[in-house]
Amino acid sequence: MLNLAKQIIEGRRLTATDDLSFFIDTDLNELCEGADLIRKTLCGSTVDLCSIINGRGGKCSENCKFCAQSAHSHTNCDVYGFLSTEEFVNDCRRVSQKGVNRYSIVTAGRTLAGADLEKAIETYRAMHEACPDMILCASHGLMKKEDLVRLKEAGVSMYHTNVETSERYFSEICTTHTYKDKIEEIRSARSAGLTVCSGGILGMGETWQDRLDMALLLSKMEITSIPLNFLIPVKGTPLGSRPRLSQEEILRIVAIFRYINPTAWIRIAAGRSYFDDGGAMLFRAGANAALTGDMLTTVGNNTSQDRDMLAGMGFQLKNL
Ligand code: SF4
Repeated sequence: MLNLAKQIIEGRRLTATDDLSFFIDTDLNELCEGADLIRKTLCGSTVDLCSIINGRGGKCSENCKFCAQSAHSHTNCDVYGFLSTEEFVNDCRRVSQKGVNRYSIVTAGRTLAGADLEKAIETYRAMHEACPDMILCASHGLMKKEDLVRLKEAGVSMYHTNVETSERYFSEICTTHTYKDKIEEIRSARSAGLTVCSGGILGMGETWQDRLDMALLLSKMEITSIPLNFLIPVKGTPLGSRPRLSQEEILRIVAIFRYINPTAWIRIAAGRSYFDDGGAMLFRAGANAALTGDMLTTVGNNTSQDRDMLAGMGFQLKNL
């Protein structure tokens, strides 16, 4: 594997025409060692931490099977309207004081429009003014290009829209919107001048080939920030009784994404809690970014513990 890692460092890129089946059963330690070498050589030792806030919760019209906020699920997740600008600005300041340099509002729902969109625009402007060093991201579903342009003008620099899984498996996970909608959204965000953060959720019953296909698609689309979530099954969702992925499987997935997307931020999101030590091993398997603090509907990792752990491993926090 070290040989392949060196080839990637020298410029080789893996594509859908390569036979990548060896990734599935190659020695895990060697795989991770190679992924770590690629990360170190091509990305350096900077780590990018971000935090999110669930800006509007529950009652979503869409039927994503993993999601506790879907109206099609039977969970008791919090249901509330778009938070106030003051609440967002205060939370953004709190996160900024903890040394996190990237902050995103995420809203449940197919899209963001009407009065909530106006509130969001006002909020992004206010956060940009209150925390000028904070990089603002947004995640509001399938938005129109002209509305994405407005987000950009209000201070947002990156738009988050996960492809979630492979094209083949997507319709097993959601039928209220399509993979094509997701790809179109990525294109719209780019044409609005935003960079794109797109990854997905692993452990939803997809095959290894689906995982490879998702990694290859993100590479082909030159996605520079790839969040990887490891499903935390939530009771009441259609995937509520799925078995959890093993640590070995998670490490293998992270490493494979690094080989296929050698220069991207491989961002660990939900599921880091499957590791006792805050997920240090993930950052020796190719990861170099993470969500810190709570996830949307599940508890996450403590930011100061994350900072200490990453500093102890020799990483520097971006912008610090
Ligand atoms: S993932 Fe987003 S679009 Fe899908 S059900 Fe949940 S809130 Fe709705």
